[in-house]
Amino acid sequence: MEDYSISDHFNPSTHEGVLPVRVLQFNMLKWFEEVSPTLLEEVLGEVNYRGLQRGIGYHIAIAPITDAAEIDGKKKIHLYENYLQFLWGVSYAITTLFQEGFVKPVKAGTYTGVTDLSDPFVRKAYAVFDASIELFTKCDPSKHYALPNPEKETPLDVKLIRQVNGVFSAASAFILMHEVGHQFFGHLDDLPVTDDYLKDKGQYEDEFAADDYALEWLQKGKAPSDVLDDTNAMGVIAAMTTFLLMDPQLTGDDEHPPPHMRMTHALEELGTTDENLWACACIGLRLWAAHTKYSFTVPSGDDLHGYKDLFYIVVDKMTDATGSPAA
Ligand SMILES: [Zn+2]
Repeated sequence: MEDYSISDHFNPSTHEGVLPVRVLQFNMLKWFEEVSPTLLEEVLGEVNYRGLQRGIGYHIAIAPITDAAEIDGKKKIHLYENYLQFLWGVSYAITTLFQEGFVKPVKAGTYTGVTDLSDPFVRKAYAVFDASIELFTKCDPSKHYALPNPEKETPLDVKLIRQVNGVFSAASAFILMHEVGHQFFGHLDDLPVTDDYLKDKGQYEDEFAADDYALEWLQKGKAPSDVLDDTNAMGVIAAMTTFLLMDPQLTGDDEHPPPHMRMTHALEELGTTDENLWACACIGLRLWAAHTKYSFTVPSGDDLHGYKDLFYIVVDKMTDATGSPAA
């Protein structure tokens, strides 16, 4: 049997960083590398023949989040530790609210349609979520070490945390593949963006193309054999939820589509019919509502026709409430 005693995964000679997510640097890259052997070949081709810079700029700072990830004009991909900690926290909140706030009470026949806020795991999910949101205004590392985190596992949390680590790794692999997608399609070689250019290209074409590139790889490849394939879809949901939270008024910008539009597009591309995954996506939307303090009446009981249906209903309400362009 595996030993589930408290364990500290930090290794000062290999892990760089100031936030607990620092212990997952290798998990994250391994997930990316294992999506598919052909993906790795393609990435090497980009490095050898088309100027993609080898290695990732991994930025560590005790500072509020400013960026998620990017590929710059010199074709180098950048990741930011504070955003990755945020992504881990959102992965934790979604996974925990799904397992403890939904699956468990449904199995026990006690699910009322409302999350039980007295459940200790549910409370932890919201505590981790709140601390993650705080990263947009200030970065206090000690707060993240005091809550459930990937660096120090307790026997009570270990199973959940390993699941969350998988979702997080899948999410960050998706984000990396999105950046590789920009490189693959030559978006960085394009001329400076002008209004005419945007009219020509369709405003969000590059972002959707990069998302589709990442999603296709996730579907072609299989998740590492010891985890459920659903983990990749959960990772996409977690990443998309972070984009919702980073643009709470759902406006998008010159390049990026409104994030609820982007999330809907990704779920449709994944073509999932699994109601559990749609329930997770609805949890992502609920986290957005908790953050923005919008509240909606949504169908429950006999009026609820599945979580896919609920997802579209809530997305419509989000569009109306924020006055955002339709998803
Ligand atoms: Zn992009």
